[in-house]
Amino acid sequence: MKHLTIDPSAAIPPTRDYPSDAKLPESLPNATETKLHPSNAGGENASLLFVGTATTILEWEGIRLMTDPNFLHAGDHVHLGPGVTGTRLTNPAVDLHELPRIDLICLSHYHADHFDDHVEASLRRSLPIITTPHAKSHLTAPHKTPEEAFTSVHDLDFYDDIMVDIANNKKEKKPAIKVTGMPGKHVPPGPGGMVGKLNDLIAAVPPTNGWMIELGYHASSSSDEDFKPGYRIYISGDTLLIPELSTIPERYPHIDLLLIHLGGTTIPSPSMPLLMVTMDAEMGVKLVQLVKPDLVVPVHYDDYDVFLSPLSDFKKAMEDAGLNEKVVYLDRKEEYRFKVREE
Ligand SMILES: [Zn+2]
Repeated sequence: MKHLTIDPSAAIPPTRDYPSDAKLPESLPNATETKLHPSNAGGENASLLFVGTATTILEWEGIRLMTDPNFLHAGDHVHLGPGVTGTRLTNPAVDLHELPRIDLICLSHYHADHFDDHVEASLRRSLPIITTPHAKSHLTAPHKTPEEAFTSVHDLDFYDDIMVDIANNKKEKKPAIKVTGMPGKHVPPGPGGMVGKLNDLIAAVPPTNGWMIELGYHASSSSDEDFKPGYRIYISGDTLLIPELSTIPERYPHIDLLLIHLGGTTIPSPSMPLLMVTMDAEMGVKLVQLVKPDLVVPVHYDDYDVFLSPLSDFKKAMEDAGLNEKVVYLDRKEEYRFKVREE
């Protein structure tokens, strides 16, 4: 297992080009609405703010963990492969330079709708990033000048894990976050025999991880063995429904929250939808039925014009499957609050 310690007492801006005359905000912007578990609310001590695309900010024990930072605005373009661009249709709930301190980033893959050029140029180089080996090679590549390379990038293959300990916490039981890489595949396996543009497209789609994020406490010592998860979040990443995902419920019989990347992303363009590279509504419901989370929150569903499966399709499919009670829908700038168990 890899190890990382983060210290939330250091109030450093998340960006390296933070305006020198600006005061770093102490908190996230207020959510426009706070949602709780439909059946068993109470004792909430953690929150998840939906910023847009697959960008969320998890707050717990004084820590802020941000997923897939994408802060482009409506009308901005992203490059998604040879000859493939997407146009953003929405604005993020908060701007990159309005963020308070951020302690950790989990980046599912190196793709511009998850880590845009503006974010890459602006982020503080020492901000810890947990990601794929492929993304790490881009973020720390030797061709980058020393001031361009990120200095705290931690790569995980499928089922590799890292224990993130939280420094300067006064509780007797020390809080920690265990992050494990989950399997994912962004393109359909082995279409075979395809030539030209489609093949180039497939080759250019980056490898992707999902994540299991376990929030919990060390029972006594700070050893890895005495870590007890008090809340499990499975983030699907930009995966299709692939056979490898069936290993997840075998390893994790109880998942509290599934953050599912939907959208039925289709490339090269909405007018030429040759290849679907993220789950649509039908696959999304199948994933819910496979991993049986206590609750689902959909993300990555309407922010770009390459997302062809609207959230309304997923809503309907969840209703048809009798799973309506299992889902909380967040609009941008809304938050979900939940309880991390301390047992
Ligand atoms: Zn995506």
